[in-house]
Amino acid sequence: PSEANKRRVTILGSTGSIGKNTLDVIEQLGGRDAFEVVAVTGSANIELLARQAKAVGAGLAVTADERRYDELKSALSGTGIAVGAGRNALLEAATAPSDWVMAAIVGTAGLAPTLAAAERGADIALANKECLVSAGNLFVEAVAAGGGRLIPVDSEHSAVFQALEADQRHAVERIVLTASGGPFRTWSREQMAGVTAAAASAHPNWSMGLKISIGSASMFNKALEMIEAKHLFDVRPDQIEVVVHPQSVIHSMVGYSDGSVLAQLGCPDMRTAIGYALSYPRRPVLNVERLDFAKLSRLDFEAPDEARFPALRLARTALTRGGLQGAVMNAAEEVAFQAFVDARIGFLQMADIAEVVMDAMVDWGAASSMADVFAVDEEARRRAGEVITKIEMAA
Ligand code: NAD
Ligand code: MG
Repeated sequence: PSEANKRRVTILGSTGSIGKNTLDVIEQLGGRDAFEVVAVTGSANIELLARQAKAVGAGLAVTADERRYDELKSALSGTGIAVGAGRNALLEAATAPSDWVMAAIVGTAGLAPTLAAAERGADIALANKECLVSAGNLFVEAVAAGGGRLIPVDSEHSAVFQALEADQRHAVERIVLTASGGPFRTWSREQMAGVTAAAASAHPNWSMGLKISIGSASMFNKALEMIEAKHLFDVRPDQIEVVVHPQSVIHSMVGYSDGSVLAQLGCPDMRTAIGYALSYPRRPVLNVERLDFAKLSRLDFEAPDEARFPALRLARTALTRGGLQGAVMNAAEEVAFQAFVDARIGFLQMADIAEVVMDAMVDWGAASSMADVFAVDEEARRRAGEVITKIEMAA
């Protein structure tokens, strides 16, 4: 196709696990003949970012790390690819005109750039679930006001999105999110107490970034996904169920008022959800593994155990309390996650810290603007930091 017919895409967080899979899908669906990659962004891995930018002929490459500007600049010298570094450059990447934006930065760091892309009306393929957990309705409203579509990339939410029939939304009874249960699915709390970040990041089925891998072990990832589901699909908290399904073959389900349950199945490969988000409402042809039912032979299900995985209980609390509790939970957990990775606290203390901060900030009410969201995020981080210091001093 001519330059004018190419789909213009931006990949925020191209160097991560979702980002790399996104570039693979773009390559499978025609690469430079079909797509114009407007911008790619990363942070620490400059070598990979530069290599990606050259491979796709990106217009702009940005690292979130201000100190790495010179390094990126020299890696891309002579290519004609524009280079930027730092927060403002990230916003520039998000606002450069494109039709579709993959939001695949990890954590609340992705909120401002994703919001900027939403406000200018791009279709948002959302992997960065923290945007929704933290900003909730405000984020959904920003996408609607911009005029773009919000297409989930998280495998569970992509599954629900695919199983939702547009004209049957009124008949939706429940959304059933599946959870693999992570590497500690059968472990006692005593066993989990002493685990290292390396053990916690070894996911049985999916290969993913560090934060979401550890979030799968603690089930904090599922906690975030419960809140993500509420905002994406506009359901009541009591309509959101979680079921542990160790094979990760059913990616999630929608239960309807006639007793029917529609599920989306597939091999655990994020490229299916990414390809769906990129080609929506059509389905792409993807070279991913097909399910072999004879080999599979069985699918197992278990009720989740909130006593061993308190993150699920905290998500329920955040959903019931509403307001900014999602933002508080997300921010406190992000700080606690980092402290766990740095071996400052134990695995089980991540949920303890989130709970203390959530209870302390229960009166913060609802957000009327994004400024409220950023303020509560900062305050929850500060408080989580204080709790961590106290834990360290007590040890
Ligand atoms: P990752 O750690 O592999 O990659 C994160 C990306 O964000 C990288 O490109 C990194 O350079 C960038 N980044 C990190 N810190 C940044 C900062 N401060 N500012 C700007 N950019 C920064 O993470 P991932 O596993 O690809 O996950 C990305 C998002 O997608 C997360 O929100 C995660 O929950 C979600 N998600 C991931 C998967 C998966 O299979 N990996 C599945 C579902 C949802
Ligand atoms: Mg998921």
